Amino acid sequence: MEELLKSLNDRQKEAVLEKEGALLVLAGAGSGKTKVLTTRIVNLVKSGVSPYKILAVTFTNKAAKEMKERLSKMIGEEVVKKMWVGTFHNICGRILRFDIENYQSPDGKKWDKNYVIYDDTDTNTIIKNALKKLNLDEKVYAPKLIKATISNAKSKMQDAYTFSTRARDYRTQRISEIYEEYEKQLLLNNAIDFDDMLLLTVNLLSTNEEVRNKYHERFSHILVDEFQDTNLSQYMLIRHLYSNGKTDEELKGRSLCVVGDVDQSIYSWRGADYKIILNFQTDYKNTKLIKLEQNYRSVSTILDAANAIIVNNAERVSKNLYSTKGKGEKIEIYEAQDESNEAYYVVNKIRNNVSNLNECAILYRTNSQSRALEEALISQGISYRMVGGLKFYERKEIKDIIAYLKLLYNRHDSQSLKRIINVPKRSIGDSTVKKVQDLAGSLDCSLFDIIEDINEYDDFSASVKLKLSNFKLLLDKLDENKDKLSFPEFVAFVIEKTGYLAELKAEDTEESRSRIENLQELVNVARDFSPEDEDNVLGEFLAQVALVTDLDETPDTDNAVTLMTLHAAKGLEFETVFLAGLEEGIFPHSRSLGDYSKPQDLEEERRLMYVGVTRAKQKLYITYAKRRQMWGKTVYYPPSRFLEEIPYNLTDRHVSDGGSLSDERTSTFRQAVSKLKSDRSGYVEKTNSFGSGFVAPLQGPQMQSISKVVKPKPTYNPQKDQPKTNFTKREAFVVKNEQNKINDEEKVKKILENNPIQKLLEERKKKEAAAAAVYSSSTSITQKEFQKGDRVFHGKFGIGHVEEIKESGSSKSYLIDFGKQGKKLVDSLYQNLKKF
Ligand code: ATP
Ligand code: MG
Repeated sequence: MEELLKSLNDRQKEAVLEKEGALLVLAGAGSGKTKVLTTRIVNLVKSGVSPYKILAVTFTNKAAKEMKERLSKMIGEEVVKKMWVGTFHNICGRILRFDIENYQSPDGKKWDKNYVIYDDTDTNTIIKNALKKLNLDEKVYAPKLIKATISNAKSKMQDAYTFSTRARDYRTQRISEIYEEYEKQLLLNNAIDFDDMLLLTVNLLSTNEEVRNKYHERFSHILVDEFQDTNLSQYMLIRHLYSNGKTDEELKGRSLCVVGDVDQSIYSWRGADYKIILNFQTDYKNTKLIKLEQNYRSVSTILDAANAIIVNNAERVSKNLYSTKGKGEKIEIYEAQDESNEAYYVVNKIRNNVSNLNECAILYRTNSQSRALEEALISQGISYRMVGGLKFYERKEIKDIIAYLKLLYNRHDSQSLKRIINVPKRSIGDSTVKKVQDLAGSLDCSLFDIIEDINEYDDFSASVKLKLSNFKLLLDKLDENKDKLSFPEFVAFVIEKTGYLAELKAEDTEESRSRIENLQELVNVARDFSPEDEDNVLGEFLAQVALVTDLDETPDTDNAVTLMTLHAAKGLEFETVFLAGLEEGIFPHSRSLGDYSKPQDLEEERRLMYVGVTRAKQKLYITYAKRRQMWGKTVYYPPSRFLEEIPYNLTDRHVSDGGSLSDERTSTFRQAVSKLKSDRSGYVEKTNSFGSGFVAPLQGPQMQSISKVVKPKPTYNPQKDQPKTNFTKREAFVVKNEQNKINDEEKVKKILENNPIQKLLEERKKKEAAAAAVYSSSTSITQKEFQKGDRVFHGKFGIGHVEEIKESGSSKSYLIDFGKQGKKLVDSLYQNLKKF
């Protein structure tokens, strides 16, 4: 332990050694927050705390795995196994596995301990069933959008009933009915969804004192990483587990340590709220606050750039970080001609300058950007791994559209036909497909052969025949345009005419938008594609895609570049980092820029940029393209504003000399592919690792076009504007920090004004108090009493009949039929309900 402590600075040591009470470590990127958590756990164990008593929460499974590995090295695997180290979902899953049977929801629902967790596919089916039952149209109430709405409500701890009481307009009221039905279906299946894991655990702990006491007793030391990205239910969970309504005096011998950085809060779109961490000291009155100021990760050039970027955010608490890792090299900023030129610049830099691929990451804002980068990496034989996502050609939407293209190329490709016959939905069910398949099997022909002559078979109903004939007509219509349109136009036509795009647009979720971006990228691939035989574009294109997918099947390698979105990069670090696609509209993303966006959205994008920059230890490259393809058309985005926020003296800025690399890129890619083809025909060099040498390195015009150096334009230099002092760097930092501290309290106050979390908590407190009043008094004056069959008037839904009385403990609710408005479950505490 002595050794471990020696490796920490004084503030870190303090955070590790403080064994009691609430502790908040608020510090910038790379200051050792995660290291403090890990060392703190070791110290607790070494000083006699039983590992059973320790609960550590990380943001991702990957982070949990890494933390366990690190701890195992220090205190042994057996000891680590006794602790609970995992994400909020893991932890809740474990609690529910033991205790879900001890929970009953206010409207009387109960689950048994063999509950199953429904994933997205399962919940999607349930929502579709609910829509059918309620006679609502899937096109108007897109299942994924409904799921996102329900999920959002759950992250704010709104159950179906609470949601229905807030539903003002017609649409939201219908959604509340779907929500109610969805919950019923889950229960019938003894199932819960991902959001329920948190919600049910929090509800279980808040309603069942015995269970709450059990876990409170068990976990006397709780640690949470990345606390700036917690949401309301996660916050409540920690509150129950740690304080359990006790006073500081009663909490002696226990500890809660949370660490975070407000500047790295990047998940507000998933319900996270950094105001929770800002509020921490108010919630836990005797919190000890520790700020870490030394960054151990990055050289000062990188850190100064990160600091210069984040100061442009208005809503933040100022802090500063200094590095003692030396100045390091300048940040290289490269203006590419287009996305392939950008990708080749990145790959070329990796080939020439990166010796350990595991210490190199390429980060981007949106998933669709990975395509050009993947292609360049593949063609240069550099292994890569994707974190938190699928490789481009493995993504569902890409596979679906490729299946359409394959089918249009060869209608007898029954595998492709099966994949998309009901995608998007055409009400052609599995049983119909099976029937077609059986028939095709017995007649020894393709599925399409059957569909083409469907009217000749008696085994199908008229409506099924019609649907299948329409599907054939669709294929014919697509086919007709194959030669009329240019190839990229044709791919875009398929995406649109099949209804695929419309379905995604109707979904209107974060995920569906990302899928649309990927499809857009597929059209760009088609545009970039130059066939050898103009009469067989589609065939050649499909052959190339098949080869890319094949080339891509890299054996698990220990030496690979990491590709991921900026969101997935939180908490990680690499020697060399590339940030690609720094253009207005891409990063910051267009959704943060439009007329309807809020200033907070842009600030969140800037925090994401701060996260990206601070992932780099030694060297940072940033790239942007002058033009880019969108749906096969060229668009020109200006360079990202974040580039202007980096002081010029920290950067080396280069531009491509103007020659487009697209043609050369294609030919290089072709060379790679055909080289592989010939390799495969004889000796197969399956390895795809760096330097396998089956592709010639970039040379000639490609290299020349990416190496012109530009003199910096002295248009903007924030450092120049700062007053000159005679202080040393460290002294200047201390002075600045002191000045910042004076403003901090004011700032936090301002940020917390109108704090929605606070409001929600107050609302919840009121609700709990009301519920407690009912529990404690059997003759509640507020509870409304009705009999089955009573005619009642509801303040919002109008006149209805009490159909059922549901009682659980001392709480009671009525299932009331409001005719056209549907059936609602109304709590007996609802005051605006009268006999009529
Ligand atoms: P982030 O905000 O990005 O999650 P963090 O604050 O959690 O960053 P860590 O990942 O814990 O920072 O630490 C950053 C790097 O600095 C790690 O490589 C870690 O090992 C190293 N480090 C932390 N503290 C020290 C120290 N006192 N001496 C040497 N290296 C340290
Ligand atoms: Mg960390």
